[in-house]
Amino acid sequence: MNTTTDSIKISFFSAKPYDREFFSEANTNFGFQLEFFETHLGPHSVNIVQNKQVVCVFVNDKVTADVVKILATKGVKIIALRCAGFNNVDLAACKEEGIKVCRVPAYSPEAVAEHALALIMTLNRKTNKAYNRVREQNFSLNGLLGFNLHNKTIGIIGTGNIGHAFCKIMLGLGCKVMAFDLIANKDLEAIGVTYHPLVELLQNADVISLHCPLNEQTKHLINATTIAMMKKGVMIINTSRGALIDTHAVIVGLKKAQIGYLGIDVYEQEDKLFFKDLSSDIIQDDEIQRLMSFPNVLVTAHQAFFTKEALTEIAHITLNNILELSELKQLSIKAALLV
Ligand code: NAD
Repeated sequence: MNTTTDSIKISFFSAKPYDREFFSEANTNFGFQLEFFETHLGPHSVNIVQNKQVVCVFVNDKVTADVVKILATKGVKIIALRCAGFNNVDLAACKEEGIKVCRVPAYSPEAVAEHALALIMTLNRKTNKAYNRVREQNFSLNGLLGFNLHNKTIGIIGTGNIGHAFCKIMLGLGCKVMAFDLIANKDLEAIGVTYHPLVELLQNADVISLHCPLNEQTKHLINATTIAMMKKGVMIINTSRGALIDTHAVIVGLKKAQIGYLGIDVYEQEDKLFFKDLSSDIIQDDEIQRLMSFPNVLVTAHQAFFTKEALTEIAHITLNNILELSELKQLSIKAALLV
């Protein structure tokens, strides 16, 4: 154990029982002081932080410029994201306040890629419906008809860590894999992935899966115009970030049957819903309610990363990032210093 780590206090926001479990276990090798808060980090909760050097946040914490300024006054020197995406952090504000920001760029891309496959397979072969049907002794096959994935064209937008793993899975199923990215990956081209302009991918893919980050260029990438370019009956899968999709446009596309299937693990307004048990509440978000009413829509609540392997990696890499940043060491290959 490092002799100085026990003086470093880390405040975890949006902490769930599994965060406590995996971080406490990983921390036996580090020896930091850990403190867990269930609440999101945002203007309403930032004042909980008192004399802490490190704040550890997740996807729906709101690390806005105002929050960053207050964190700086509380002595926070490091914001450690325990996730890959960082669209919820104002990096410019962190830089201005001299706060370092790190993330976990690649913990288990296979976990997310395999969940994208699970969404496809469930939507296609309707195993969720079959499960309930058979338990009620209804052995009829009516309404369960699927299609072979073999020889279908899969359009993959973003071929970074997760997109790369997903390309390999879909090639393994005998699919034709078309990709769009700002940079073509030569290793993927060597195994049969072909890169195309976005419009060509949208026009030809039977299944479109999103694996690019959310930024100004990609916000509402799936909108009324791009949906109109797609094959009728297309399947759209989003395990990346909710705001890649214009929800209203997708609802219109589903009603017209232009979109045949939608599988989403992320949702633009998910911060008010996901990671909470709202089973006794009246949901005020009419768009998610409408989406969940379609028989050909599958929503999971941001669980694509949620495997034992991924949580073990996330905890270890996050604590190692904090160790390296607090000791001002050169970052290792898996750590990612954003500012
Ligand atoms: P990555 O950075 O390794 O890859 C992203 C790829 O997208 C890169 O190849 C990049 O060149 C490409 N890209 C950037 N802008 C683009 C654009 N305008 N059009 C097309 N491609 C573009 O990221 P990753 O680890 O593969 O993760 C992808 C996303 O998945 C993350 O940004 C995150 O939002 C999301 N994610 C979701 C979960 C989950 O549990 N649902 C878990 C981890 C990550």
